[in-house]
Amino acid sequence: MSIGNLYIVSAPSGAGKTSLVKALLEAEPRVRVSVSHTTRAMRPGEVDGVNYHFVSREQFTAMLEQDAFLEHAQVFDNFYGTSQHWVEQTLAEGYDLILEIDWQGAQQVRRLLPQAKSIFILPPTQEALRHRLTNRGQDSGEIIERRMRDAVSEMSHYVEFDYLVINDDFGHALEDLKAIFRANQLLQAPQQMRHGGLLSELLA
Ligand code: 5GP
Repeated sequence: MSIGNLYIVSAPSGAGKTSLVKALLEAEPRVRVSVSHTTRAMRPGEVDGVNYHFVSREQFTAMLEQDAFLEHAQVFDNFYGTSQHWVEQTLAEGYDLILEIDWQGAQQVRRLLPQAKSIFILPPTQEALRHRLTNRGQDSGEIIERRMRDAVSEMSHYVEFDYLVINDDFGHALEDLKAIFRANQLLQAPQQMRHGGLLSELLA
């Protein structure tokens, strides 16, 4: 069985990353997304084990000490980490796997697994981002300004990524994402593993 491809998807908050990844998963049955562990509080509508594995700081620290994380980072005031075991198992089962992580985690994964492809999703303008952050909830102007500063700081890492997708039109951005996945599935090495029989027959 072939080994799946590993993808890192990062974006500033408000760029539409989660919705795009969700739509990609619906369209591509061979793609999975990693469910991270986090110490942050559950938001309304979130489900434990679906959006995140919600854990206490003590549980997170214990997992760190057991080397359970492929990567981990502090984002705002919370800790986030990706389960090493789950990533290895899912890739070994032949699924393509997406890690939705921040730039700090992306740097760690690139060092450990240089074959991982990384994608950065950008908003079409700063104004569009501000608009999306403002429309999200009842956050004060001060919090929105802090989120804008955090978003600009996250976006300054775009140069470290293999692919840039601009989420101006949702459907177009989704097609861009699908194109990246499709092109990687067609690389020679995985194709050779998938179609070994055909290649032997063609060359007989
Ligand atoms: P949120 O709390 O809004 O769901 O996510 C905040 C930030 O943490 C986002 O940039 C998200 O990509 C990032 N994040 C989520 N899970 C992980 C993880 O396992 N590792 C790292 N490094 N970042 C994560």
